[in-house]
Amino acid sequence: MTDVLVAEIQAALGPRGWLDPADAGSLLTGWRGTYSGTPILVARPDTVEGVQEVVRACARHGATVVSQGGNTGLSGGSVPIDDPSDGRPSVLLLTSRLNRIVSVDPARFTITAEAGCTIEQVQQAAAAVGQQLAMDWGARGTATVGGAISTNAGGLNVLRFGNTRRHVLGLEAVLADGRVFDGLRALRKDNTGYDLKQLFIGAEGTLGVVTRAVFELQPAMPHHRSLFAALAGLDTVTDLYGLARSIDPGGLTAFELVPEMGVGVAVDVLDVVRPIGTRAEWYLLARFSGSEPVTDTVTRFLSEAVERGYVTDAVVADTASQEANLWTLRDELPPETLFDSRGAKFDAAVPIDRIPGFQRSVEAIAERLCGPEAVTFSFGHLGDGNLHVYVLASLEPGGRLAPDLVESVTAAVDAVIWELGGTISAEHGVGQDLLGRLPGQKSQVEFDLMRAVKAAIDPTDLFNPGKGAQTIEHSTRPA
Ligand SMILES: Cc1cc2nc3c(=O)[nH]c(=O)nc-3n(C[C@H](O)[C@H](O)[C@H](O)COP(=O)(O)OP(=O)(O)OC[C@H]3O[C@@H](n4cnc5c(N)ncnc54)[C@H](O)[C@@H]3O)c2cc1C
Repeated sequence: MTDVLVAEIQAALGPRGWLDPADAGSLLTGWRGTYSGTPILVARPDTVEGVQEVVRACARHGATVVSQGGNTGLSGGSVPIDDPSDGRPSVLLLTSRLNRIVSVDPARFTITAEAGCTIEQVQQAAAAVGQQLAMDWGARGTATVGGAISTNAGGLNVLRFGNTRRHVLGLEAVLADGRVFDGLRALRKDNTGYDLKQLFIGAEGTLGVVTRAVFELQPAMPHHRSLFAALAGLDTVTDLYGLARSIDPGGLTAFELVPEMGVGVAVDVLDVVRPIGTRAEWYLLARFSGSEPVTDTVTRFLSEAVERGYVTDAVVADTASQEANLWTLRDELPPETLFDSRGAKFDAAVPIDRIPGFQRSVEAIAERLCGPEAVTFSFGHLGDGNLHVYVLASLEPGGRLAPDLVESVTAAVDAVIWELGGTISAEHGVGQDLLGRLPGQKSQVEFDLMRAVKAAIDPTDLFNPGKGAQTIEHSTRPA
């Protein structure tokens, strides 16, 4: 069966349209290196019709389809699971050749792009007409339109412009029976029934293959200033955030937390410069943007922040290279790029005023369960109440937290997140990574509804089997 399927897809896509898995190298392993899988073929269609051919062939022969964009997802969603209990072979469907900007329409403030376009490619096409795609994060040069939609990616601008869901006006996807769901309308208003495109946003490739999307563009904000400030402590960040928003409600476009631990290592191992001499446990990296100069806004914000005792020292980037230095520092903070140390990882969101208490609780859990050597490394999208937290054995290269400790730390921290009314996956999705933890996150009703949606749209579980929240049968969340 597999030989026939492989031959059919190869014939349909032509010699450039597929790869032998033996030649696929890093495509078979997720970005964090924690998940790998073995497809029978890597398909690289360059048209929607090609995607339909792959999906129909897989459906006919009882194989499964795993979509992959830039493979920067952090939850193991983009590589197949080698699951003997399923027994079906999988085809890895790469969108890298679906990489055309279809149209840019500045009069409508929209852009239409194929699923394999990188986020940076779409940003550049928007900038070329004096507008902006306000989705942005460190993996912009590799992460794709299809991946961003399928993970409902967040990133650096969420507090001002929202996550991916807020930017998508329409999308197109190939369904399990090979038909095309054409939701590629560029309308801001359309109350003609269920908003079906929303189902594909954040579905992690479990309902179909996203092939094209229309994004809403924003007017360019030509003036922006980024600042880096040493914080007096974490306890006043909510007040600091309130101050920033009150000084310029629409102009605050990023509000990120950076730890000294990350600055120290980044300065040692990367080509970045320490932004200020003053050392603090925590720093704020923020940006104000606008159609008019924002220098006065930044000055007013910093002087009030110092006066109120929230900030002890700060620097404002004056040149493009200083600005690039600040944002490179932020982009490179994930420990997977900074340290060769592994442990328990959290992508938590809690109400912003709970952030200081949350951080203290994780530090206490780490010390209690792992001893004083353990390190709690936190950074991220403070303005969204979203912290990426890692409990590591140490910062020494090769440090590994023992699996039983990862498990006990994870259980204890998840319990704290739920107690604070938060979520264990703010923006990285579920993939394979969170399956064991997810039953405590949502109610039985929510899991039942998600399973019903999956059964209605992909009844044979063709797409990305074994991954995503809809695989959970029983909630363990107290009623
Ligand atoms: C350095 C770094 C920084 C990051 N920062 C952030 C951040 O700030 N915020 C954030 O939200 N994420 C962040 N991420 C995670 C990642 O970049 C996003 O999840 C991104 O959206 C993944 O896009 P991708 O194209 O790489 O998708 P992939 O990793 O290829 O796939 C992710 C999921 O989407 C599915 N998928 C991909 N393409 C399609 C398609 N066309 N149709 C259907 N399903 C599809 C896959 O099956 C998989 O389940 C970061 C990652 C890195 C490496």
